[in-house]
Amino acid sequence: MRRPGALPRPLVTALAVADGRCYRHCREPLTERAVRSPLPGLWRVGVCPGGVVSVTSYAEWTSGNPTARVRAALRRWSRPPGLVRSRDLRLATRHGPELGRPAERFLARQKLPVGVRVVYWRVYPSRAKDGTERRLFACFRSGHPRPVFFRADPARPGWACPACAARRRR
Ligand SMILES: [Zn+2]
Ligand SMILES: [Zn+2]
Repeated sequence: MRRPGALPRPLVTALAVADGRCYRHCREPLTERAVRSPLPGLWRVGVCPGGVVSVTSYAEWTSGNPTARVRAALRRWSRPPGLVRSRDLRLATRHGPELGRPAERFLARQKLPVGVRVVYWRVYPSRAKDGTERRLFACFRSGHPRPVFFRADPARPGWACPACAARRRR
């Protein structure tokens, strides 16, 4: 049994085609990290070789708008939660032709016109008070139930996840 909103197999395959490159940073190809969550859809975190998170997406098979649930989940996973601003979330509807032939054929067979809704989250680079650059990173260490999103200086090696740092202090 498929959960309502979960992506059927042909759509998972279509959306897994990673052609993304690191946006406004190094232009290198992104590695996709999957995230498990209580939401039925598919999370992907696009990370560049330098560890910078270029884009996070959540895809759900629905005619509804999952943006509010996506925002709530990302806020729970971000330090601080205010890192997730509504204007950095963008909703798109993906249709058959752009997803490739197998997905297009699959969608054409469906009785209900349900699209694939994808919410994209991009955090643009910013500057700290001392002028150093801040980029979005995500820690996927197994000690966390979910990824931990935070901003850090991409030039400084050994950047620290706030959740891992808090655990070390205990
Ligand atoms: Zn990069
Ligand atoms: Zn961590």
